[in-house]
This record gives sequence, structure tokens and C-alpha cells, in this order.
Amino acid sequence: MRIYEDRYTRERLRFHIALRFIRLEARTHTIRDWTGLTDDRIRKLYRSYLAHGGRAPARHRGKSPRRVAVFLRSARLRQESSLLASLFRLMGALPAPSAPPSLQRGLQALLVAGAPASPASLRPSLQRAQLLCEAYELYCALLVSPALGFEHAVFLLQALLQAEEITTAPCPDCQALVVMDRWALFAARCATCAADGPAGAVTAQRDCAAADLPIPPALCKTPMDAHGHARHVR
Ligand SMILES: [Zn+2]
Repeated sequence: MRIYEDRYTRERLRFHIALRFIRLEARTHTIRDWTGLTDDRIRKLYRSYLAHGGRAPARHRGKSPRRVAVFLRSARLRQESSLLASLFRLMGALPAPSAPPSLQRGLQALLVAGAPASPASLRPSLQRAQLLCEAYELYCALLVSPALGFEHAVFLLQALLQAEEITTAPCPDCQALVVMDRWALFAARCATCAADGPAGAVTAQRDCAAADLPIPPALCKTPMDAHGHARHVR
């Protein structure tokens, strides 16, 4: 009985996630990869979704995004990719580097040995699919006009999990999570710090302000007055 209930719960979750992917305009093969449903069942699910009177989600055909360069192509895309990566991390879809040692070892071995970049721990799963949806829906809720579609979000998560071409690292000035080239020699600064001025300016400003006031990190970009004291915005 217990086995039956577990299987039933898992099947319900599978269909629930497939519907969520359909609403987010995922391609059929993406839904198949993440849920294990056949193309035929996905098509039937799509038809039944329409039968219930929901607004028809767009069906996209063709290949999903494959080039990570899109995430670094412009300041806006770098910023939005970093926001999405932060939400992945917040929701638990993207493990923190120090969280799962087994994952880290797996990645290390993967990079050293040059094995195919799809160990079992990085494969799509129903649990990760749920977290992915929650992160992407939050990303859409935060931005008026998000630049990255759901297929880009799926690709970004997979690329960050594989960490072959892009990775995440803290901004050296404010510690915000930044998506950057995996092989870059220097850590990338977030869009806000980059707009503030040359590298190190914010850190120097923080050090200077900290000498007088225990200013939290969110206020560390407060401009200095003529005496080198932090000037708060009123
Ligand atoms: Zn920063």
C-alpha cells in the first residue's frame, strides 16, 4: 500500500510539474527530459490544459538555447543571469559550493577526468524541477520585462550545475552572486559595483566608512562627504 501511495504521489508530482512547464512555455523535449513523460502524454496534457479554459501558452519549436555566451553578452543579461542564479541558490536548485561535498568531488573528478558532464547528481529531477519553476516565477515577478525566457533559465541552471563554461562567484566588492566565465582570471564585479566606478572603489569606501560607523553592506555605497564620512541618503 505504501509503495502504491509513493508511486501515486510521484506520478501526481510528475504531471503537476509538466503542467507548470507548459505554462512557462517550455519545449516538449525539455518537459520530457525533466519529467520523464513521453511526447504523446505531454501533448495530451497540453490539450487537456486547454480544455480547462486556461489561456493557451505559446508552443515553441526548434532547439533550446545552447550557447552560454548569451548570459554574458550585455550588462543587462549579466545582471539578470546573476539574479536568476541567486534565486536558484536561494531556492536550493543550485547547491552552494560548500554544501554538498559529494557534488564538489564529483565536479572536480569530472573536470579533471574530462568525463561526460552529466553525473547522476546533476541530472534533471522532479525535486529540482520544482525549485527551478519557483525560482523562475519569482524572477518574472521581480522584473517588469524579464529578458530571459524559461528555456534560458533551464539552460542557465544546467550550465551552472555542470560548471564547465560558466560559474558563480561573489562580487569582490559587495559579495553579490555573479555569473561569470568559468575560466576568467579575475572575479567579475556585479553590474551595480561596475557602474559605481573602478574596481576596489567600493571596498575602499566601505573600509573608510567602517572606521566611523558600523554601516551594513547595503549602505556601503553611500557617498562620502568632504571629511571622508559616510553621507546617508535621507
Ligand atoms: Zn557588487
